[in-house]
This record gives sequence, structure tokens and C-alpha cells, in this order.
Amino acid sequence: MWGMFGGLPTKFFKKVYEFVRITNSEDPFKGPDERLRNEPCEKNPRHKRFHRFKPFRHIILPHPYNHDNQFGPLIKGIGYLVVKVHVRIPETHKISLGSGKIVFSRVKSGTLSRCCPCETCQHEKEKSVKGNLKREDQKQKTQWGEIHVVTAYHVVGSNKDVKKTTCLLNYDDEAHSKPIELDGLKINRWSKDRDMCEFICISHDMDLVKGLRKKIYFLKGRHEKVYRDYRYSAERNLCVIVSHPHGCAKHVTCGELLNTVPVQRGEFNFTTLCYNTHTCGGSSGAPVYRVNKRSVWYLHPHRGEKDGASNWSGSVYE
Ligand SMILES: [Zn+2]
Ligand SMILES: [Zn+2]
Repeated sequence: MWGMFGGLPTKFFKKVYEFVRITNSEDPFKGPDERLRNEPCEKNPRHKRFHRFKPFRHIILPHPYNHDNQFGPLIKGIGYLVVKVHVRIPETHKISLGSGKIVFSRVKSGTLSRCCPCETCQHEKEKSVKGNLKREDQKQKTQWGEIHVVTAYHVVGSNKDVKKTTCLLNYDDEAHSKPIELDGLKINRWSKDRDMCEFICISHDMDLVKGLRKKIYFLKGRHEKVYRDYRYSAERNLCVIVSHPHGCAKHVTCGELLNTVPVQRGEFNFTTLCYNTHTCGGSSGAPVYRVNKRSVWYLHPHRGEKDGASNWSGSVYE
């Protein structure tokens, strides 16, 4: 039937397609992917309110945000930084699953004696010292990338946990994505009562490290615009979570921010969020995005269910 539009410019097709997309409730990409839909779950049977991250459609947003084209790229921007957090627990041979967000990524340089801190490079350095190897035979890296991930303290709570932690990056959909594994190195900062933990991963892939840095700034730019536009609006309670529910590929849930609770710690003002955005096991530690937060460097990590009707987050500096 498209043949009848044969001579029209591509722009026109796009418009027709957008129209079909927004009005067609039977969008095959709406809702969860097959794996999540079939995951047994008491909290959210069939996971109807979860939407696959890829391909992302802005129609999943509630009114009035569904008419604002800014939110598509913004939520993509959040999702690019979300990782699946996978912790092996040796005592029980079990795996604990959570989600996290990359908050920092930079290239670091050193020397052969002050080389990359990852296990492989430290092993190479030890070998070169013991074997008195020539400079050209030493294999430890003198340039590496440091990537920081924020999750919940109840997902990763000690250096022992970090050593057993792998982050899965780019696990966007079941069929096509090629996830990248990042091994945890050590904790950078943590707080048990605020239920947050920031830990460090190392990568030897400099393009990845630089790319992640760009993505962090991409999200910052997108959010700043939305923050300005909605600052004085009555409709600014959108609360979005991108996570890996049940350890499945990335999914997005949208809901409302119900309350922002101030938490005083010494001189510092933290807040905890209360929201009705849907989450499941595996969503712990995922970034909770809200329109009315000034800065998106640190988003609140999802903590869990507060009562039957709402969820709450760990506390983050405002
Ligand atoms: Zn579930
Ligand atoms: Zn290394």
C-alpha cells in the first residue's frame, strides 16, 4: 500500500509513521520482552508496566510528557549509563542481581612501576619484577580507564563483594545487544544507612572509556534542558527508572514521584525519594530519574518497596 506514496519525500513517511505509532495501542514493541514477560513473579505478574528499552518509543510516557520529544533522547541517555550488576556469592554459590549507573569515566596514565591497578596488570608487574624483565617485555598497561558505578549498598556492600562483581554494559535487548563485561576493583565510597555504594571498574578499552564520558555529558545536557523547561511547571512529577529486572535486558518503567524526604547527615542535606514507579527484583541500585532534580551526576539508587503502594530510594546529596 505504501506504493501510493511513491513520489513523496521521506519526511512525509516519517510523519505518517509517527501518527500510526502514537495511535496504535497494539505496538508490538510496547511492554516487556518475552523473557521478562515469562519470568515468574509475585510482585508484577507478566510485568505489563515494564517496557523494553530497545527499540525505545516515547509513547510509553504518561501525559503530558508523551507530547514532549525531549524525553525520548533523555531516557536513552539514562539507559546508556545503566549496567546490570552481577555479584557472585561464594559461600552460597548464588548470584545476587542488581542494577547500577555509570557516574564517572576517565583515562588515567601511569608508568610501568605505577601501572594499571587491575588484577591482570598487577600480576604482569609482579612477573616482570621477579623475572627482571626488560621494559619492552613488560606487559602491564601504563594507560587505563577508571569507570565508577553507583548502586545500592545492599547489592554491593564491601570490597569483598566488589571483587566478585561484574557489570554488564550495553545489555539493551535480548537478541541484538553485545554486552561488555567490566570487573569490579574496589569501593570508592559507600553508606550503609543511605543504602548507596560507588565502586570502581577498570577497562583497557580507551574508546569505551572516552565514549562513556561523552554519554555522561550527553545526559547532563539533555537533563538541563528538561529541568529548565519544567522548573515552574505544575507537571513535573515524572519519575523514570531504567533497570535490569530479574537480570533481564534493560527495561523502562514510568511513574510518579510521590514525595522527596529530606535526610540530614551532619552538615549535609540528602534526600530520599518515594515513588510509585514499578520495580522488581534486580532493579535495586538502578538510577531513579526525576524531572525536578537539579543535577543528574548522582541519581538516587533504587532501594526497594516501602509499603504496598510505593517504593523508595537510597539517599543522595541534593
Ligand atoms: Zn518481577
Ligand atoms: Zn589492567
